[in-house]
Amino acid sequence: MFLDYHTHTNFSTDGKQTVFQLCEAALFRGVSELCLTDHYEPHSPMPEFAVPPSREILTELAKARRVFPQLKIKLGFEVTDNPPHHDEIAEWMNTWELDYFLLSHHTVEGLDPFMPEYFERYNNDRKASYEAYALSVVESLSTWRPREFDCLAHLGYVGRYAPFPEDTRAFSWRDAPDIVDELLRSVIDHEAALEINTASYRAGDQPTPGVDILRRYRELGGEFVMFGSDAHKVEHVAYAFDRAHEAALSCGLKYTYRFHRREREVVNICCQCCRK
Ligand SMILES: [Zn+2]
Ligand SMILES: [Zn+2]
Repeated sequence: MFLDYHTHTNFSTDGKQTVFQLCEAALFRGVSELCLTDHYEPHSPMPEFAVPPSREILTELAKARRVFPQLKIKLGFEVTDNPPHHDEIAEWMNTWELDYFLLSHHTVEGLDPFMPEYFERYNNDRKASYEAYALSVVESLSTWRPREFDCLAHLGYVGRYAPFPEDTRAFSWRDAPDIVDELLRSVIDHEAALEINTASYRAGDQPTPGVDILRRYRELGGEFVMFGSDAHKVEHVAYAFDRAHEAALSCGLKYTYRFHRREREVVNICCQCCRK
């Protein structure tokens, strides 16, 4: 059975599924535990994302837990870091009883690599635009204390919408080896997990990050990964999770976590993906 710890509902601006639809799809795909991680992007350059999820999600969550008792449903948020606003983030987070805090990066110096303007700022130069992204993640991590967040989301997001040929645009270790090493060491030092985001399997043969970075994470001493489909609609829930589990194991990564109220329990990936 699978654990999908990165999902969006219509409590995210870009979510296209209700909590109930998400739960039905999760059960259909063999998910035993899922975590809602709707967006919170304080002061995003795209104002529609800067609006935090409504507290109505708690009502929906309570209903879903009653209707789907066979599914463990956790509450988390995908928080896009914005270091000058940490106090505001912490204050907002403290108003919730969260199971999981997924830290993500969608902006580099005020621009989202989703926007062509991001790459234009670097004259569409791959090295410069990718290095700037990796450096910004390193800087962001340095502003958090160990265990203040639980997992680093989609490392390599810069490549997802990059204006380069589809088969080569995935962010790789070679794009910024020293910076990626520093970044992975920082994830380990923060006692955070590294997410294996499966959304990129929809357009290619690698998760985000790719196996070269996952392998490097293991070489540097990293052990824990979280699986997330980043599903915004039902057909993407737990997408390509079989492949993602195989990729993790092939890199020597054997453990994931389940979270409850920010407390973690180690789960062996081999057992988790054995379907009975
Ligand atoms: Zn994201
Ligand atoms: Zn997401």
